[in-house]
Amino acid sequence: MALLQEPIYCRRCRRGLNIRFNDLGLIAGYLHAAEQRGQHSDHRPEPAPITQIPDPIIECDFCSAPEAAWIYRCANQITDARRITAQVVSVNDYRSRHHAARVRRTDTEHALTQAWGERWTACQGCADLIEARDLYGLIRRVADAMPAKLTRGKHLMRTRGELHDRYTAVFDTLAPGRGQITPGHPLGIWPNTAGGAS
Ligand SMILES: [Zn+2]
Ligand SMILES: [Zn+2]
Repeated sequence: MALLQEPIYCRRCRRGLNIRFNDLGLIAGYLHAAEQRGQHSDHRPEPAPITQIPDPIIECDFCSAPEAAWIYRCANQITDARRITAQVVSVNDYRSRHHAARVRRTDTEHALTQAWGERWTACQGCADLIEARDLYGLIRRVADAMPAKLTRGKHLMRTRGELHDRYTAVFDTLAPGRGQITPGHPLGIWPNTAGGAS
């Protein structure tokens, strides 16, 4: 499954989009990263590469804080998106009709998987926990920042379990070095040739 090199952002809200793949490994659609995390979005995704977005709002992929400071790289992860409910727009609708794209469905199809990507943005607070390899500190911080519906009562155990699985894989496959996000460098400035564009 080939991932696009450049992160995809929404032209309208300037925030990150997640990519859905079908079971053939083809791009099936886009959704706001915030919706993936359980928040509501009031418009449909308008996907474009991040370098085409003026002044993109780069959120922390961990706790969703609005100002990510660092980019980490690790192995790509695929998770089943069955439990996600969000508006997903078909990529074909964009190719053919662009802004007239219909929302193809408002619920999930079990064949769809979510690719988390090998690039993870982190705010300074999350980055400090990553540098310290503090897995439980990071889980606690992220769960505290989540909408209450995902951490209420019995949901908390499941949410923490999912974060544990995902972040364990991030820590286990973390590549050396990190890129620093600065104005005009949404892909990060990387030390030496550690990977990534600047
Ligand atoms: Zn948007
Ligand atoms: Zn964060």
